[in-house]
Amino acid sequence: MLPVRTTASALNRALVSANAVAVVEALRDAGFDAYLVGGCVRDLLLGRTPKDFDVATDATPEDVRGVFPRVRLVGRRFRIAHVRMRGEVIEVSTFRRAQDGDDTPPSRNGYRSAHLSEHGIILHDNAYGAIDEDALRRDFTVNALYYDPADNSVLDYCDGMADIVGRTLRIIGDPARRFREDPVRILRALRFAAKLGLHLHPATEAAIAPTREMLTAVPPARLFDEFIKLFMQGHGEQTFDLAAKHGLVEILFPRPPQGEAIARLALASTDERIAVDKPVTPGFLLAAFLWHEYLHRLPQDAGRTNGEDREQAACAALAAQQQTIAVPRRHGYFARDVWCLQPRFAQLTQRNVAALLEHRRFRAAYDFLMLRVASDDAPAELGRWWTEAQAVDADELARDLPAEPRRRRRRRHGKHRAPVLNQGVA
Ligand code: ATP
Ligand code: MG
Repeated sequence: MLPVRTTASALNRALVSANAVAVVEALRDAGFDAYLVGGCVRDLLLGRTPKDFDVATDATPEDVRGVFPRVRLVGRRFRIAHVRMRGEVIEVSTFRRAQDGDDTPPSRNGYRSAHLSEHGIILHDNAYGAIDEDALRRDFTVNALYYDPADNSVLDYCDGMADIVGRTLRIIGDPARRFREDPVRILRALRFAAKLGLHLHPATEAAIAPTREMLTAVPPARLFDEFIKLFMQGHGEQTFDLAAKHGLVEILFPRPPQGEAIARLALASTDERIAVDKPVTPGFLLAAFLWHEYLHRLPQDAGRTNGEDREQAACAALAAQQQTIAVPRRHGYFARDVWCLQPRFAQLTQRNVAALLEHRRFRAAYDFLMLRVASDDAPAELGRWWTEAQAVDADELARDLPAEPRRRRRRRHGKHRAPVLNQGVA
C-alpha cells in the first residue's frame, strides 16, 4: 500500500525535538527505516507543542539496542526501546501489524481467535509488520501520520492529513470493531477530542453507544492509567462533559449522577491548577467523584457516625470503585482522609481547631470543604470561618473558641464512643 506523501509546510520545525531527529538519523545511518510518529506528529501539525516524541522503525528492539549506547527495553504487551539521547528519552517502537484474529469478531458458534478474549478484546499485538500495516493498526487517522524530518514530509496511509485540516477525529477501519477490540479507544477518542478541540467523525461517534459497555471488561489497572490521562491533563472538565454526553460516566463510576456537581467543581479546580503548574493529585479528584458514594455508605443516622463508621464507609466506597478503576492504595488513603476529616470542620473547639490546622491533610480537606460549600453541601459560613482561621494567628483564634465542651459519654456496642457534634454534611 502506497502512502500519500505531503510536504508539511505548516509544521513549525523549531518545535521538533532535535534529539528525536538525531535518533531517526542514527537509525537511518545504520540502514533502517525510521520516522517520527503518533501524538507528536499530530500535535505538530495542529500547531501544538508535543509533550514527548515517538519514533517508529523497521529495526527490532534488539537492533535498536545495537545502534545506541543507552537503551532500555520496556513493555509487557509489546517491547519498546527507550533511547536516551542527550538527557531526553525517545520511545522507539518497531512497526507492528494487527494480527489476523483482529479481523474476526468472536462468532456465536464458539469460534474465537487466539488473539482475542471472549469479549473480542485484543490480547496480543506483538507481531512485527510493514509500515503500512503499522499505520492501519493505530487508533485514529490523525495518530497514524509518519513524519520524515529529512525532507519535512508526512507519509499518510489513512487520510489523516485531511482529518487534520478538517479537525476531525476518525477511527481507522470499522469503528465498532475497533472499539470492541480495545474499548479504551473510546476514552482516548473523548480525551483527544477535548484536548485538541477536534470533533468526532459521525461514524466514530455513533459506534460509542453500542460498544461502551465493554469498558467494564478492561483491566481496572489500565483504566486507572486512562483516568489520569482523561482528567489530569488540563482538560478534565471538557473531557468529563464528553464522557457524560456519551454515557460513560455511569460506566466508570459506581454512583455518578449525584456526584456530578462536586465532581465538576473538582475538575475545574484541577484544570486551573494544572494551567498554572500547581501540583495535583488523583486522590483529591477521586474524593470528589466518590463523595456521594461514600455518604451513601455511612449509617443513615448521620449525626451518630463515629470514626469507625466513616472508615468503613470509605473502604466500601473505594471497593465499589475498584470494580472498574483500580485506585492505587495511596490515593485511596488520601480520599479516605479527606472524607473522614470533613465532620471535624464543624467542631469549633480550641483543641480540634488547633489539631486540624496541623493535620497533614488539612489543606486538601479544606479545599474539599470549599468544594462542598460551592456545591451547597456545607454551610458557606463554615467555609468562610476556616478561610479566615488560616489568616489569624493561633492565640487570637483560640481566644474566640470554647475549650472542649463537656461530653456525656454514651455507651454503645459495649464500648465508648466519642460523640461527633455534627456530621458536617447537612
Ligand atoms: P498523547 O499526547 O496523549 O501521548 P499519543 O497519540 O502519543 O497522545 P500514546 O498513548 O502515547 O498517545 O500512543 C502513541 C501512539 O500509539 C498513538 O498516537 C497511536 O498511534 C498508537 N496507539 C496508542 N494507543 C492505541 C490503541 N489503544 N489502539 C491503537 N493504537 C494506539
Ligand atoms: Mg504519546
